[in-house]
Amino acid sequence: MSRFLQLVLDMFDGATTKALQDIGTDKQSSPKKRKPRQPKRLKPQSLMGGLHRDVNVAPALHGPHMPPEPLGQVLPKAHYVHPRATRRIQLGTTDVAYAFRRGKRRTIGMAIGPDGLEVSAPRWVTVGEVESALREKADWIARKLVEMQERQQQLGAARIVWADGVVLPYLGDQLQVVLDSSSTLKKNSAQFEPAVSPQLGNELAHRVTEQDRAEAVALQTAPQALHTLRLGLPLNAEPQQIRDAVQAWLMRQAKALFVERLNHYAPQLGVQWHKVSLSSAATRWGSASANGAIRLNWRLVHHKRDVIDYVVAHELSHLRVMDHSPRFWETVQSVMPDYAQRRRVLKDEPLPPWS
Ligand SMILES: [Zn+2]
Repeated sequence: MSRFLQLVLDMFDGATTKALQDIGTDKQSSPKKRKPRQPKRLKPQSLMGGLHRDVNVAPALHGPHMPPEPLGQVLPKAHYVHPRATRRIQLGTTDVAYAFRRGKRRTIGMAIGPDGLEVSAPRWVTVGEVESALREKADWIARKLVEMQERQQQLGAARIVWADGVVLPYLGDQLQVVLDSSSTLKKNSAQFEPAVSPQLGNELAHRVTEQDRAEAVALQTAPQALHTLRLGLPLNAEPQQIRDAVQAWLMRQAKALFVERLNHYAPQLGVQWHKVSLSSAATRWGSASANGAIRLNWRLVHHKRDVIDYVVAHELSHLRVMDHSPRFWETVQSVMPDYAQRRRVLKDEPLPPWS
């Protein structure tokens, strides 16, 4: 399920051709009484779950026989091939080979994941009906395929190569790993050296105008500051060793930061947390239990503090409201008026796949 980030679309809820014709209206054609459904609504999982995210997606949207092409070349004529494609359809200028299966479901379902389009339909729906449903949604499908492809390309570009000098995101800045077995560093230990701008340091201590201070602060927090993480490892260390040392260090930083931020927001929300543990789930940023136990994904440390704070405030807010109702979002907003913006960053900024 986690492979389908946000693109699940239920087409209709009827058992007849009539229902197909009703696409685009909210009419229910089924004679049976059913739980009312909203046939046209997009159901982004990331909206429902709040903090779900897939960080371990396949490297390319195209199937094995078709290498990814730059977007400029695939538009306006585009081909998308799902690796398990069994059917093919031409949607305008977009040629889509999709995975198709029959299911017990009552509706035609369309989902666009890293592999491409998957369609499932009840046994009683004809192929012709499935195809007209796809044509009905051609614009949506084409748009989502392009979006997913762009996302995959971003992720692919961000893959980490574990070697001396590798740079990875850390609190929204950059962290460069330097292997150094000659210094006083103990084997496998790590030492953080913050980026220091030449204007900082002495000047900060002696010059006191607000202007200078503001500039200095701006420099210090400028995006993409390059910090150094010095590891007590030889230059020929195995990628695995490097990765493990970096991960151990990042997890320690994550834990300390989470505790600090939980302690910052809990009193503001009037809640008490009693335990925080680190998770490395591929699809979740955090969770909260009614008993006050919080789980947070250590990989959040790649993100800016603002974004981490959003996840912390989100999970703490669940100690007051255990769902994603409007009252829940009001609770989040009460301590973080700009939470929506931070949430968007969390959803949109791809992180390097950790492997
Ligand atoms: Zn939530």
